[in-house]
Amino acid sequence: MKADILERDIKFLPGVGPKRAELLNKELKICSFGDLLYYFPYKHVDRTRFYKISQISGDLPYIQFEGQITRVDTAGGGRNMRLTAHISDGTGSLELVWFRGLKWIKDLVKPGKKFLVYGKPTVFNNKINLVHPEMEDPEKQEKTINSALQSFYITSEKLKNSFITSRVIQKMQNRLLSLVYGKIAETLPDTLINRLDLPGLNDALLNIHFPQSIEKLKKAENRLKFEELFYLQLSILKQKTGRKEKVKGFVFGKVGALFNKFYNDHLPFELTAAQKRVMREIRKDTGSGKQMNRLLQGDVGSGKTLVAVMSMLIAVDNGFQACLMAPTEILASQHFSTLNKILEKLPLSVGILTGSTRKKERDILHRQLRSGELNILVGTHALIEESVQFDELGLVVIDEQHRFGVAQRARMWKKNHSIPHMLVMTATPIPRTLAMTVYGDLEVSVIDELPPGRKPIVTSHFFDTKRERLFGFMRKQIGLGKQIYVVYPLISESEKMDYKDLEDGYLSIVRAFPPPDYVVAIVHGQMKPENKETGMQQFISGRAHILVATTVIEVGVDVPNASVMVIESAERFGLSQLHQLRGRVGRGADQSYCILMTSHKLSNEARQRMKTMVGTTDGFEIAEADLKLRGPGDLEGTMQSGFPFELKISNLGRDSRILEYARQQAIIILDADPVLGKPENSIYSRQLKKLHPRAEDWSKIS
Ligand code: ADP
Ligand code: MG
Repeated sequence: MKADILERDIKFLPGVGPKRAELLNKELKICSFGDLLYYFPYKHVDRTRFYKISQISGDLPYIQFEGQITRVDTAGGGRNMRLTAHISDGTGSLELVWFRGLKWIKDLVKPGKKFLVYGKPTVFNNKINLVHPEMEDPEKQEKTINSALQSFYITSEKLKNSFITSRVIQKMQNRLLSLVYGKIAETLPDTLINRLDLPGLNDALLNIHFPQSIEKLKKAENRLKFEELFYLQLSILKQKTGRKEKVKGFVFGKVGALFNKFYNDHLPFELTAAQKRVMREIRKDTGSGKQMNRLLQGDVGSGKTLVAVMSMLIAVDNGFQACLMAPTEILASQHFSTLNKILEKLPLSVGILTGSTRKKERDILHRQLRSGELNILVGTHALIEESVQFDELGLVVIDEQHRFGVAQRARMWKKNHSIPHMLVMTATPIPRTLAMTVYGDLEVSVIDELPPGRKPIVTSHFFDTKRERLFGFMRKQIGLGKQIYVVYPLISESEKMDYKDLEDGYLSIVRAFPPPDYVVAIVHGQMKPENKETGMQQFISGRAHILVATTVIEVGVDVPNASVMVIESAERFGLSQLHQLRGRVGRGADQSYCILMTSHKLSNEARQRMKTMVGTTDGFEIAEADLKLRGPGDLEGTMQSGFPFELKISNLGRDSRILEYARQQAIIILDADPVLGKPENSIYSRQLKKLHPRAEDWSKIS
């Protein structure tokens, strides 16, 4: 077989050479012809229009015009040196400015020379300027493939300094496509292409770089997005079937005495229908002989803890140990006390292990764990330290955790080819599209119902100037016997500014709510654990009316008597965080409130966030809005360890329809041929090996 032309080293592309190849390599990870071809433009701009200088204003986007240099000046010295060229076309003149690469520009830009100029006009000192425009000799213009739109490519500072600009990349694409167009091997079978009416790969790649029309561009984008998401789904779903067959799980064959006693005598309330459904799903999985990997999604306050407790009881009933891992010490100790309270009358032992557990207690815990004396262990990340050895760990529950990596590390507890069952609970609802992709190999359960009697939280947005009104409202609520959270943003633990905001805020609240009539507690991340604990206890016990805090209370804290959540500088929080914080109230039967305080100066995006929060309390709706506003980058970022794919063209937020469609197609194919062994499917398995070689290893590790 002839070597694939797309695998050829990029340095062999005319006009590139070893030096530029190295830069492309380092800066953009472009090593081969194929890498360059799949380096897609981030936008397309109409290039049929040429401007006259008199028509150019500072608010235009990228423009092009032709003109003649009339004068060149240099100003400043040393590092502040800049070069200004005046250019005119008879209708007017404007200035072109450079700060870097002056030596090279000076040789190029001489009075009398004509240029085709591309750039983004800006206004500086009332004059129109183009900073670092791209300059081309109109006579020496390289013939490019005809196209209706001009493509723009992301470059880096380093590349720009070496004059590898977006235009230069476009020229490289031009040369590359002239060489390879018509010779690129198709990556989808004809049957699929015909059935879905997709353009062929050669045409799709040509049109993404040099669109022949807007319509053809759309079709090209559509095909490339479909293909990317299709292979992603095919890869994930194929691994999922593979894993199910390979990994054995402990069998929880029965529901025993502990569970039954709890269910019949100690259940504090009737389970919701959703909680019951999820329990059935978990029982089915854990009884099947295969290892469970289940993601439990449920909005804040939907009662996930109870599901965790009952699942752990089933594990213990079957002779296994169980552990419950929380992201913070506060949350771990809260879980510990909840468990102690509701399991008090049952014959089993529960322990807690966190970073601040003393060595003496730790040693005792370690011993009891190894001997099997301890049935349930609650804790923080300290649970996954190597020194923590269980006798027979059957179930791991991870609470409020959207970090995929932990679930994978938990596989360390593998024993005789069996891995404990995993239940990952998250209160940050993950939009369907993202769950399908990132958690593609997990089963998903959803608690889509809140316990009865909850009233939707009323959310309002106040500007800072309305603080007196806010305090009045707070006094009224306290008068009704209610408690109030006031939360300050904390972007990073080391930001001194943030602590100053918090302390100033605390002082102003104490002034407005003075002792002895009022008690105000404070909790933040830089306090010693014992002081944090004291502050929390003051609030939990009901002695403190107001808790001033940072986001340490974001997850899981449960004080049903708290009815007001005030979020200061709410514009600094993301949607999912705002939703989490709001979820701290509305846990009792009384009406609860969330008040978002912001300054008058708001970006459009922040305004949109406030509007979304005021408009809905549905976590899934908020998660979808968040994904649209922000893109999935952040979410994916936190899951990098479990997400071995890089999306080049599709966006999980915006392309959810294509994703769902791609998934359906992948399912149809795998249903008929789970290992892709049939000859007519060889194109898929070949493509998978090429695209996701890491994914193949990944499934072997687990
Ligand atoms: P989350 O899903 O946010 O972790 P929790 O498990 O903390 O929610 O439950 C929130 C509150 O709802 C708790 O006070 C809990 O006791 C209560 N709760 C849970 N399940 C039910 C139910 N079926 N009926 C009534 N209250 C419930
Ligand atoms: Mg919880």
